[in-house]
Amino acid sequence: APILVAIDGPAGSGKSSVSRASAARLGFGILDTGAAYRALAWAARETGSDLDDEAAVLALLDSWRYSSTLIGDQRIGVLLHDGQSYRTYDVTAAIRDHAVSGQVSRVSKHPGVRERLNRMFREIVADSGLPGVVIEGRDITTVVAPDAPVRILMTASPEVRAQRRAGELEGLSHEQVLADIAARDAKDALVVDFMTPAPGVTLVDTSELDFEQSVQAVVDIVRA
Ligand code: C5P
Repeated sequence: APILVAIDGPAGSGKSSVSRASAARLGFGILDTGAAYRALAWAARETGSDLDDEAAVLALLDSWRYSSTLIGDQRIGVLLHDGQSYRTYDVTAAIRDHAVSGQVSRVSKHPGVRERLNRMFREIVADSGLPGVVIEGRDITTVVAPDAPVRILMTASPEVRAQRRAGELEGLSHEQVLADIAARDAKDALVVDFMTPAPGVTLVDTSELDFEQSVQAVVDIVRA
């Protein structure tokens, strides 16, 4: 079985980009679980499903398949069954849309949906054939892979997180980005606590670290 590196943290903590670079340096794959929640929210919108209705989202999951490359440029694919056959969609860009970001917590709040996706994450990792996989999200260190040999919670101050996100979301003011992040964190925090490290989880605060230092911090923890 692949060596697991579990990394949790809020939006803008550097989690995604640092996880990706750390995985590349370690020769590991990377599984971005947020991308799967986003891909499910995208599909719910695409099919006109009621995102707040758990039964509707679970029904959608029956005809939804997810595919993600674990190495390289991480293309995200969704397959939807139309009653006849599966149609494939490359949603790599679409799942980053502001419209999707604002809706993901409506599907990620359902316990049954989380259970189904967690099972899928464990299967993807087990079937990866890779020496190791960095798996990042909100509840990886606590729920998805509580037994992972390396578990990290990555944080950064709200100001630093908003600054980093502003660089990615052109056209939005610093205040808007700050408000967006705070709103999404508040919704997500109702479902999982991703701000306090669980026992045995190493806290990495990247507020004062640049990108390279953050990557090195993760790599050092894995190699220790
Ligand atoms: O990590 P990212 O910001 O792309 O995650 C998008 C959304 O997916 C989060 O706002 C959260 O609602 C959900 N998510 C989750 N559990 C995870 C990863 C993401 O609920 N492990």
